[in-house]
Amino acid sequence: MSIVLNGKEIAEDILKNIKSETEKFKSAPKLVIILVGDNEASQIYVRNKCLAANKAGIEAKLLTFNANTAPEVLSAQIEQLNADQNVHGIIIQLPLPPAFDADALLSQVNPLKDVDGFHPLNAGLLQNNNPAAFAPATARAVMTLLEKTGINLSGKNALVIGRSRIVGKPVAQMLLNKNCTVTIAHSKTLGLPYLLQNADIVVAACGQPKMIKGNMIKKGAVVIDVGINRDSEGKLCGDVDFETAKDVASFITPVPKGVGPMTIALLLQNTLDAYLKQKHA
Ligand code: NAD
Repeated sequence: MSIVLNGKEIAEDILKNIKSETEKFKSAPKLVIILVGDNEASQIYVRNKCLAANKAGIEAKLLTFNANTAPEVLSAQIEQLNADQNVHGIIIQLPLPPAFDADALLSQVNPLKDVDGFHPLNAGLLQNNNPAAFAPATARAVMTLLEKTGINLSGKNALVIGRSRIVGKPVAQMLLNKNCTVTIAHSKTLGLPYLLQNADIVVAACGQPKMIKGNMIKKGAVVIDVGINRDSEGKLCGDVDFETAKDVASFITPVPKGVGPMTIALLLQNTLDAYLKQKHA
């Protein structure tokens, strides 16, 4: 039987710690979220980010734009936020409607305010294991959960399933920075069962409901489930089949109440870090 890592509780503690920091400031750190179009999931994520920001003493401002807004308007808005000394963090909520060049807009955000860690400069700093990097919040959430297990990561075989820019790649880089031996699996990977049998740490971020079953995992592996999916009955579930995996893993995260709330907490931690960096720049 494994120990279930309660992401919700750990996230609450992180928010409390941020709050106790922000209470000392004369003015609250400010996070601006740009939301374009009417993607329902994005609207829910953004609302949760704003609620959590308020709890942590961070001022969150939501700027909404129609899907048919001219890209130049968005671009001008980002420039204005970059120049505004009272704005410490900027998020462009993804996905953007197809008419927008997400890469171009993300690259326009001042890297010091890039609390999502999607700017190429921050990706490069992360690759160089430079502490000045803003790491994407979900990747930081995974690493924080692994830290909570107390296990020494050095030399462990870590398998990251998924290679997205938001999750898989930065997690793999951060595990490598901690001296894990990292394998990245993706949709074209052959022999995933073999890789799983050798993995001491599994980070599942492939968006495939309950794909990883208990009998595929090495006994005693640490399993971090990033996936947020709906099962055949419409219930929220991860990429890991929690019911079978919990009997094999040493530590495991549930879905919900695992990586999800941690991601929001670490986004706000990034915002606090951005505030401190800008105050001391
Ligand atoms: P994505 O679609 O961008 O990437 C999925 C990755 O999984 C790809 O690299 C793909 O090659 C790989 N993949 C797909 N099928 C596979 C298979 N059968 N075997 C091995 N690899 C496979 O998704 P993403 O944005 O990285 O998100 C992944 C999952 O994590 C989704 O369920 C998403 O909802 C969830 N997510 C959760 C959080 C959170 O805060 N908990 C944050 C971001 C994403």
